[in-house]
Amino acid sequence: MIKKKADLEIIDIKPRGYCKGVVRALRIVKRTREENPEATINILGKVVHNRYIMEALNYYRIKTIDIPGLTREELLQYVDQGILILSAHGTAKKIIEIAKGKGLTVIDAVCNDVVSTHDIIGQASAQNKQIVFIGKNYHPETEAILQNFPLVHLITQESDIESLNLDSARNILITNQTTLSILEIQSIIQAILEKYPQAEVNNEICGATRVRQEAIIKQADLDALIVVGDPNSNNTAMLAQIGLEHGIEHVVRVESIEDLTLKEFKQGWRVGITSGASTPTYLTKMVSHYLKEVDLRNPQRKPKIDLTKILE
Ligand code: SF4
Repeated sequence: MIKKKADLEIIDIKPRGYCKGVVRALRIVKRTREENPEATINILGKVVHNRYIMEALNYYRIKTIDIPGLTREELLQYVDQGILILSAHGTAKKIIEIAKGKGLTVIDAVCNDVVSTHDIIGQASAQNKQIVFIGKNYHPETEAILQNFPLVHLITQESDIESLNLDSARNILITNQTTLSILEIQSIIQAILEKYPQAEVNNEICGATRVRQEAIIKQADLDALIVVGDPNSNNTAMLAQIGLEHGIEHVVRVESIEDLTLKEFKQGWRVGITSGASTPTYLTKMVSHYLKEVDLRNPQRKPKIDLTKILE
């Protein structure tokens, strides 16, 4: 029997998915449970931004304390005992002290690249430099930076630069959140430099974010791009933004195969698939495998997600 030609040409864009910081954070969480089988274990905020990971951790009796709109300090009020794991995005020193003061055993799963940004800002502050930090408001990474260094000037978008009022006689350092768009940040840095040409720049976009975004830019002639990842994951959102900025007409964000709809695809399309640094490989592969076989006019039933495979 002649096999029917696939309806879509699927391009698995690489690298994609888990970065070293996420792999490390998940390893810490799993090891903590293995070494403390009976302990109460809570995570302050999502250990990484992915709902399915949170659900899989529930399965191992590890509870994520995450209420939208609440800061880490406010979330800490809901934890009174046991082990507290801190997320890959970094947590302010003040929060760690409060947690220890409550008698909690604190385990920090912060990513080394985030620690490096804190160190750079710490050194610049000690040298009395003024610090401009480009980041997303209410993101936990930005929250921790602002709590550790309250004198930092936060820039969330280019229009914020107008109200920036720095002392031109003092040194200035421009730095940023690790997971921003490599294209967007260039224009923001350039606009700050036009106002303060003497400022020094330390671009802290991490290697994992950079290579995942560059892999999209290298793609040519894609009709559509699918970005698999959590709606709250900044690096996932940035992959979609890079796709649009790169001129891909159809950019589709899905959390998993569950919310994938086929109406946006046409027969013969070249469709790239990528995923955020916090997206389980299993979820991305599911979308890719399904679309490689799909019959757009008579689509096969979508497979069910097995939570036991999320942390693999
Ligand atoms: S995206 Fe970058 S900064 Fe964030 S956890 Fe991964 S490696 Fe670390």
